[in-house]
Amino acid sequence: MFKLPPLPFDQGALAPHMSSDTLATHHGKHHAGYIKKLNTALESRKDAPAALEDVVQLAVREKDGGLFNNAAQTWNHGFFWQSLSAEAQPQPTGKLGAAIDKAFGSFSSFRDEFLSRGEKHFASGWVWLVAGADGAVKIVDTHDAATPIVEAGVTPLLTCDVWEHAYYIDYKNDRAAFLKAFFDKLANWQFAAQQHEAALAGGKGGWTFPT
Ligand code: MN
Repeated sequence: MFKLPPLPFDQGALAPHMSSDTLATHHGKHHAGYIKKLNTALESRKDAPAALEDVVQLAVREKDGGLFNNAAQTWNHGFFWQSLSAEAQPQPTGKLGAAIDKAFGSFSSFRDEFLSRGEKHFASGWVWLVAGADGAVKIVDTHDAATPIVEAGVTPLLTCDVWEHAYYIDYKNDRAAFLKAFFDKLANWQFAAQQHEAALAGGKGGWTFPT
């Protein structure tokens, strides 16, 4: 049985960029709902792995779309809360800063590309900064519940939820404004740098969903 992890900040701490109302619904209703359905799906089987990451892989192997959607959405949201910071953080330096410069030319170009991918993403999904085992970074966007953790050798560093439920209360249909607020005011670059260190260590020490 998986539990809804508490937010790593006070529910009102991200306002006005992400309101308490949004978080009450997004965390307390949407994320909690995925976990409830996931637990219901797992109740009926005796071979359920203890780690959520293994449940996601099991769902992929068994081509069980219902289990995958709820397991992956449970994981993606847990990772999204870690991707947010109550205080705006300076842009990354060190190894992550260098990897971003190498991949995109500059932090500003990386920002443009991240916002563009998020704005152009059709319908529900996620925009991610991910790294390979060599530390090289790239942006990917995934549809619906799809998650980069199913790809071998890929470690996610940061994600932004672009499902409408992530921004409609605060921004209505203005996804671009939400993405700018995420990138400029909320992105947790310290967490991304820790994940980048994990990528360089072959994924060891990366964030895992609490069991
Ligand atoms: Mn969501």
